[in-house]
Amino acid sequence: MAKHQFKSESKRLLDLMINSIYTHKEIFLREIISNASDAIDKLSFIALTDDKLGMTREDFKINIHADKDARTLTITDNGIGMDKDDLENNLGTIASSGSYKFKQEMEQKPDDIDIIGQFGVGFYSAFMVAKNITVNTKKYGSDTAYCWQSSGADGFTIEETQKDGIGTEIILEMKDNTDDENYDEFLEQYRIQSLIKKYSDYIRYPIIMDMTKSRVKEETKDSEKPEYEDYTEEETLNSMIPIWQRPKKDVTQEEYDRFYSEKFFAMDKPIRTIVTSVEGVVTYKALLFIPSSTPYDYYTKEYKKGLQLYSSGVLITENCEELVPEHFRFVKGIVDTADLSLNISREMLQHDRHLLTIAQNLEKKVKNELTSMLNNDREDYEKFFKAFGRQLKYGVVSDYGMHKEALQDLLLFYSSTEKKPVTLAEYVERMKEDQKFIYFATGENAAAIDALPQTELLRSKGYEILYCTEDVDEFTLQTLSSYKEKTFCSATNDDLGIENEEETEENKQTSDALLTFVKETLGDKVAEVTASKKLVSHPVCLTAKGGISFEMEKYFNSVQPDSGMKAQRVLELNMNHSAVKTMQSLIETDIDKAKKYAEVLYAQALLIAGLPLENPSEYTDLVCSLI
Ligand code: ADP
Repeated sequence: MAKHQFKSESKRLLDLMINSIYTHKEIFLREIISNASDAIDKLSFIALTDDKLGMTREDFKINIHADKDARTLTITDNGIGMDKDDLENNLGTIASSGSYKFKQEMEQKPDDIDIIGQFGVGFYSAFMVAKNITVNTKKYGSDTAYCWQSSGADGFTIEETQKDGIGTEIILEMKDNTDDENYDEFLEQYRIQSLIKKYSDYIRYPIIMDMTKSRVKEETKDSEKPEYEDYTEEETLNSMIPIWQRPKKDVTQEEYDRFYSEKFFAMDKPIRTIVTSVEGVVTYKALLFIPSSTPYDYYTKEYKKGLQLYSSGVLITENCEELVPEHFRFVKGIVDTADLSLNISREMLQHDRHLLTIAQNLEKKVKNELTSMLNNDREDYEKFFKAFGRQLKYGVVSDYGMHKEALQDLLLFYSSTEKKPVTLAEYVERMKEDQKFIYFATGENAAAIDALPQTELLRSKGYEILYCTEDVDEFTLQTLSSYKEKTFCSATNDDLGIENEEETEENKQTSDALLTFVKETLGDKVAEVTASKKLVSHPVCLTAKGGISFEMEKYFNSVQPDSGMKAQRVLELNMNHSAVKTMQSLIETDIDKAKKYAEVLYAQALLIAGLPLENPSEYTDLVCSLI
């Protein structure tokens, strides 16, 4: 029998498939099944008008049969089938769609074997697992059936054969196992079952396979030692109608919850489920979930953001990153659109206009859902924010603050007056008439910030303070810089903008002398010593000068201990405090003691700021010497 040669451009692709080292060889099944489904689509369309065909929608199916002895996997459909010309044109050449684009891409990047998985590479992908492929097929309207056979690059044969009924049967003879590859796995019923679930669950026709199962023998049912027997049962492997294709009113929240946990291996329940269906310039359906708790790997490299992308029920990619912005990377879900072909590459996805539009729409949807949760169900929102608030704050800081407008109203900070998380809008609404700034203070936790001397004056004036207890908080507010034209002001670092009574000239002279004395005593430990405008009952506090705050210093030193990042320390003295006054009078009478006072007060300021003492034992000696 004459061997037909593959067209030259197909040959290279075939070589690639045959020698593929690609790890996701499993996609071959998705491709074969998709072809079968397309073929059935075509015939079922004809069946609508051709009564002679005698087929209704219920008759269409795809059958899978694995024969472990013969090492063959057979996929049968009762779709439109192929005649001789079709076989030559469709299976002998790279088809116009996926395979061709794949080949082009491959020529540009011959080493990037990974791109196979991004394509609908079609029929040829079967050569990744099969050494021999036989296609028996009979086309609608034809009396003759044909058998197409190929073992790869050396060409294919076509001959007449006998076949009942219209449709196509594809027999894959598996490659021999090697040390690295086990092709027998594709003959295991559970492996096949899981591949169908993964890639072809929503194919609209039943995918049927005989499953071998085990049961107790009837006659031993009541005995002490029941015996088991194998039996086979036909099973439909795919669920056919995706949950997102069903109208929202027909699906219960329990069903959505179950889908969420099965599909995304989630332990929690979604705090919100978003169902959306859009028809117009782009047509798509989306089912999105906002989780209620942080996945354990969320803040690690392992966590992959993205939505599952389907094209008419067929999975294209499990993590289409382009569909969700980084700041909403916690969103899980799926998008199904008929506007994409199966054959789209990852690079094409990135630039696909439809996809961009979908992504923009979904971002708005998620934002609206969060806003409505914030306004209408504060308890849920606080729970959500506990899990993902940090992500939103990172979102403000990232990309040079590009998304700050979009995200600022979703932020919560703990409030000193309300004793609970509040929004910036709520803060501004409550601001006192004479209050210039939105005040915030940074520290380990709320109790530590409460104890900060710097916040005392603010509290005595009744001003609300936002507490920054997470490392990203301060960066977030710095990036925002202002909200509704009110500037943020750090209680620990900035001038609070609150005027104290004017000092007399005489007072100023004595205080200047004291400040100079303390600075000289402490030397390089501090950058500056100033008379404080913030302190009320505390004698001293430490503030940071320049761009780096103490919290930043702590943060950078924790992520990179040798970063050498150090905030410039400014020691502020409360000139009205008795301890400071005593120190002042000691300068005249006992200068050594006055110096000790300066050291002790500085150490206290460090402790209150949550910074380590440079030398703790020296400090205790010093205190003892004064007792
Ligand atoms: P694509 O599906 O991207 O066009 P394939 O290489 O998968 O490329 O398939 C090539 C062509 O072979 C299909 O377009 C279709 O015309 C034909 N074909 C493949 N499988 C079947 C089948 N089971 N029944 C009928 N035609 C088929």
